[in-house]
Amino acid sequence: MRYTSAAIETLIEEFSKLPGIGRKTAQRLTMYILQQPPSSAGRLAGALIDIKEKVIRCSVCQNVTDRDADPCYICCGTGRDRSIICVVESPVDVLAFEKTGHYKGQYHVLHGLISPLDGIGPDDIRLRELLIRFDNPHHEDIPVKEVVLALSPTVEGETTSLYISRQLKPYGIVVTKIARGIPVGAELEFIDEATLSRAMEGRFAV
Ligand code: ZN
Repeated sequence: MRYTSAAIETLIEEFSKLPGIGRKTAQRLTMYILQQPPSSAGRLAGALIDIKEKVIRCSVCQNVTDRDADPCYICCGTGRDRSIICVVESPVDVLAFEKTGHYKGQYHVLHGLISPLDGIGPDDIRLRELLIRFDNPHHEDIPVKEVVLALSPTVEGETTSLYISRQLKPYGIVVTKIARGIPVGAELEFIDEATLSRAMEGRFAV
């Protein structure tokens, strides 16, 4: 069943491409927008364009940041412990740790995990950018003493953790892993804040 307006069909189609959005939800969103004043739709359209034009990856930690705020506010932040870097898979994980309010160190966002079965190797994620942070000590005001691996306890997460800890060996940096309070196979972003805090506190050397 198709609508008699091509514009409506186009928007439904675009919404349907988003993760977790089926055709029914896409129709509901489209109808909602149709009922809103033009200014409201304009703000939504503007926000969609802005996110592609203004958001970049921080040149240091690879987390998302605005074009005019690079390095990001966490990399530049006073009161952040610059001797520790927490390695995570995605920007959502940074948000999860920040929400706990306990972790005050730096981050490094990989934007993916090594997954040989999917053809994703070390060069396909932001791993080189992590190693550069140690190759160029002037990059960091205070030398990094510890790298915490906070990757999901999945096969891909474990493979990536193992690879990183091997790569960091020559640098003489303490490499730790967050504790196992996290259920095996769980995605980090769905873990509650208390569990995540405990996992960080209970990290152990690898
Ligand atoms: Zn940054």
